[in-house]
Amino acid sequence: MKPALRVTRPELHRLFEGMIAAYGPQAWWPADSPFEIAVGALLVQRTQWINAARALENLSAHRLMSARAVVESDLRDVETLISTVGFYRQKAVRLQSMATWVIQSGGFDALSGLPTAELRTSLLSVPGIGPETADSILLYAFDRPVFVADAYARRLFQRQGWAGESSSSGYDGVRKAVMSLLNEGAQFYNEFHALIVRHGKSVCKTRPACESCPVRNGCDFGRARRSTGRRRIDR
Ligand code: SF4
Repeated sequence: MKPALRVTRPELHRLFEGMIAAYGPQAWWPADSPFEIAVGALLVQRTQWINAARALENLSAHRLMSARAVVESDLRDVETLISTVGFYRQKAVRLQSMATWVIQSGGFDALSGLPTAELRTSLLSVPGIGPETADSILLYAFDRPVFVADAYARRLFQRQGWAGESSSSGYDGVRKAVMSLLNEGAQFYNEFHALIVRHGKSVCKTRPACESCPVRNGCDFGRARRSTGRRRIDR
């Protein structure tokens, strides 16, 4: 099997250290319960966090921050409360599906007793929960050491020059590649993902701000930009 990433464990650690030195601990995920984290992970799909946070506040204010309450509530009410997020009608249905799954599985305590692979498979059986959402829930709601290989991470790794065989560099390939190198605990993965998102939103954006990047040393894309800039100045 061709590698999804050409990177070493020290290189991943250098990236982590560079980001945490620049941005500090991110204290993810701000929530009062595992259920709230799972709901947030579902609502934030294709939506800005600020809008998902408003929906979470609405659900809390109307005492709908438990699986039982969500299942027993009227679908139209759920739609109204989460209408600040994109695709809110579809997400209201999915929210009720996830709440049903929690109840039918015996609640979060019972789910917490499952091995990570089994829990992930079970999460992926819930309509609307794909690999990225499942891993976010595993990591932040269940404290499992998994890597969320989201678009920010894949773009960053690709720019760093770590992209491996394109046929295996999708979500699952990158997730497995990172997890085969890092045997750290959930706290490390928690911070790593939060830092990657922070970096991807503030510096390594669609148009990256390489000149102010804390991890530009060793980044292929940043290096290429610097030498292009130098050549322009030399002319
Ligand atoms: S140097 Fe540029 S491309 Fe590389 S990680 Fe930093 S912002 Fe992203």
